[in-house]
Amino acid sequence: AYAKFKGTYEEPEQEEGQGGPGGGGPMTQVEWIADDTLEGLAGQMGLSGDAATEFVAQIERWNGYCEAGVDEEFGRAAEVLFPVKDGPFYACTFDPVLGETMVTMGGIITDGEQNAVDANYEPIPGLYMAGNDCGRRFGTEYVTPIPGCSLAFALVLGRECGKSVAKFLG
Ligand SMILES: Cc1cc2nc3c(=O)[nH]c(=O)nc-3n(C[C@H](O)[C@H](O)[C@H](O)COP(=O)(O)OP(=O)(O)OC[C@H]3O[C@@H](n4cnc5c(N)ncnc54)[C@H](O)[C@@H]3O)c2cc1C
Repeated sequence: AYAKFKGTYEEPEQEEGQGGPGGGGPMTQVEWIADDTLEGLAGQMGLSGDAATEFVAQIERWNGYCEAGVDEEFGRAAEVLFPVKDGPFYACTFDPVLGETMVTMGGIITDGEQNAVDANYEPIPGLYMAGNDCGRRFGTEYVTPIPGCSLAFALVLGRECGKSVAKFLG
């Protein structure tokens, strides 16, 4: 993305639909964008006026949480509060047909019975989670090199969750 931004990038030759660097791959066409400043990145992303100002303000708020070690908006764990400070800054686009979010990074924490827990890690009666709603599946990143890990979590823990709900309902 940075080479493209600086004008030194050369598109590699490849067959149509072939994956790899610069290729679309079978799933989605990803466009990478880079800029030395957040304001420049906002402009390249097509944001202007209030939208561009809010984009930069959001990142500054996030950096403040990282410095304080407390995420006041979403309560993310301090270990995953990585600031976005030193450029160049990157953004990427995904094909909206395929959805913008692949998995939840975070989510509601459960015990071993898929029962959601409260702030003191005590089970909340009758509230059960599986799949994307279930927390602690992916901590700092989504590990795509392991095929099907998210779907497998959703299927296996979905079944376990169903068993727990049946038990709860008697
Ligand atoms: C483009 C893309 C590629 C992916 N590739 C992979 C991959 O290769 N390997 C992998 O393991 N994972 C992959 N994933 C992730 C995986 O698909 C998800 O983690 C998984 O589907 C989550 O399952 P889920 O049952 O929790 O949620 P979902 O599959 O999202 O199911 C939630 C369901 O709830 C329904 N719903 C929502 N709101 C309501 C409501 N109010 N009332 C009734 N129904 C409602 C929705 O319509 C949906 O059917 C990919 C995801 C995307 C988007």
